[in-house]
Amino acid sequence: MSTMKKATQKYLKEHNRSLIFKKMLDQNPTSRANLARVTGLTPTTVSEIVSEFITDGLVNEIGIGPSTGGKNPILLDIVEDSRCSIGLDLANDRLSGGIVNLRGKIKHFITISLNGAEGDDALALVFEMIDQLIKHKSEQIVGIGIGAPGLINSRDGLVINAVNYGWKNLPLVDIINQRYNLPVHIINDCQAAAIAEKQYGHATLATNNMIVINVRYGIGAGIIIDSEIYQGDGGSAGEMGHIVVIPEGGELCRCGNRGCLETVASVKALLRNAKSLASQNPKFFSNLTPNALTFDLLLTSFFESNPITIKLVLDSAYYLGMAISWLVGILNIQKIILIGDMTKFGEPWLAQIKNTVNEMSLERPRSNTKIEISKLGHKTVIVGATAALASDYSFFFNQ
Ligand SMILES: [Zn+2]
Repeated sequence: MSTMKKATQKYLKEHNRSLIFKKMLDQNPTSRANLARVTGLTPTTVSEIVSEFITDGLVNEIGIGPSTGGKNPILLDIVEDSRCSIGLDLANDRLSGGIVNLRGKIKHFITISLNGAEGDDALALVFEMIDQLIKHKSEQIVGIGIGAPGLINSRDGLVINAVNYGWKNLPLVDIINQRYNLPVHIINDCQAAAIAEKQYGHATLATNNMIVINVRYGIGAGIIIDSEIYQGDGGSAGEMGHIVVIPEGGELCRCGNRGCLETVASVKALLRNAKSLASQNPKFFSNLTPNALTFDLLLTSFFESNPITIKLVLDSAYYLGMAISWLVGILNIQKIILIGDMTKFGEPWLAQIKNTVNEMSLERPRSNTKIEISKLGHKTVIVGATAALASDYSFFFNQ
């Protein structure tokens, strides 16, 4: 057989295996006959591939299903823990990582504070995290997916600029791949979150378009248009943290501009404002000194109805609402999901955002817009980073 023909056959087989595997992930349980129907492949091809999956421990026969006319079908399901990936969430103030199974469930989770580490020291923390995770399920781990803040070049595996990590043009994918000898994929953290919401979220509105906004130490968005991540011409679509919302006299932002959304609506901004008030009057936060104030203490004081904290939080929500109203006006995407630490302020914070969007946008683009807090919780980026890694399923298969 010619090399060309062999290559084509190999490609076809890869393609068919991925197609069947994807259908099995979508429909559980299923049967060989159903897989042939939904993939359009011949029953023989489906049977051959399913047998390989069973031999590889990826799929199990789990019983007999009801007859739809002919013989009762044998039901098949994915063995969801048979392959796992490591997902990393490199946030601006901490690193989190988890072992994620084939259905996006986190089996083990750890978090390490960044504590000002930069450059090689920050990289050492990434290694430490992967080392700890790998110990748990070394046989099943087939790849590593990374969600990182800042400008990321997914195609070349580069962190172009991650200010808090002190990384510039770092070939992170190559570095990790060489150390662990596993497939590695990197994506912007907000884009990872958007993929997770698309794949595993249970938001109320089914649509092919959505915006996922991550509001934590920094602020960014992942935009999905026609079911695909929209990266923009230069790969930096969704960098909404640096939209200027205070054109005159705003605070200096880490990007060098003044009055960016991040300087008024992020966790960092909230802490900065609270500390500045605490230094003016210790009574504002029950005599806590500025240095003693933490995000968790502010959360507590918010739910204890401290009027100072409430004002700070609602002011920050107002600016976020303003920026969201611009997105609504420009894109008319009707599904907007909020994730990140700021969502812990819950309903009152969300209500202020919605009010502002209502006040500041035209009725038509706004009317069917749903803004909600993610139901996936704070592990969204980890799950999304592994989902992005698994976009062609080939590395789940033995060969
Ligand atoms: Zn900025």
